[in-house]
Amino acid sequence: MTNKLKYFIGNWKMFGDLGSIKIIFRINRFLNTFKKRNKVVLCVPNTLIHYFTKKIKSKNIFIGAQNCHQYKNYGAFTGSVNALMLKNAGAKFIILGHSENRSDGDTNHIINKKIESALKQKINIIFCIGETIREKNKGKTFSVLRNQIKGSINKIYNPNKIIIAYEPIWSIGTGKIPKAFELRKIFKFIKSEFSKIFKKKSPPKVLYGGSVNDKNIRFFSSIYDIDGFLIGASSQSAKKFIDIIKNYYK
Ligand code: PEP
Repeated sequence: MTNKLKYFIGNWKMFGDLGSIKIIFRINRFLNTFKKRNKVVLCVPNTLIHYFTKKIKSKNIFIGAQNCHQYKNYGAFTGSVNALMLKNAGAKFIILGHSENRSDGDTNHIINKKIESALKQKINIIFCIGETIREKNKGKTFSVLRNQIKGSINKIYNPNKIIIAYEPIWSIGTGKIPKAFELRKIFKFIKSEFSKIFKKKSPPKVLYGGSVNDKNIRFFSSIYDIDGFLIGASSQSAKKFIDIIKNYYK
């Protein structure tokens, strides 16, 4: 296995309280002794970002957010938080375009505006794309992914600030994962679509997300183009998250 930098990004979703800092401390203790080239990001609820970033003074773990409002300034949007507020709270990364937010109404256009506002605050983007099972069965995976990419990514954006997470919707929280040959084709496709937009020689970082756990992680290590993982449920437990990282390199 190469020593390429790998991303392990946790999406805590609607999970956690102040006491959950102990999960982060435990992951940090593990990373202090682990010698592989990893970048670990935990995207936590907004209520925890400021507290966690103050408590964790570590070069090994970054704290991120999970969504933001697209409006760049303060405004009359009850209950919403924008990228400026998340930056001030300490977020260094943000998940945008997650299918759970797409199903709440986030269109490609809205996601485009969210990306633009987060980039303005110099927050790194984790941009999620993925097809439904219906789209997959109809052979539409590539056209859906192309549409999501083209609909939200402008060529003037800084490509170094955008990580893509391929998350097939049918895989999130279901225990089902794609086959290796499907992943190889899809990762090559996503990288080439991005290279077309940015005319850039070095390919973008593309993560896989969907039911990754400490048992199935070994399967993914044979797929060279995968630059890391976006992990939902299994990132809410320090042991499971650490075992994912350890088992990936076994
Ligand atoms: C996610 O929601 O981003 C995700 C990958 O969830 P899970 O790992 O639980 O399937």
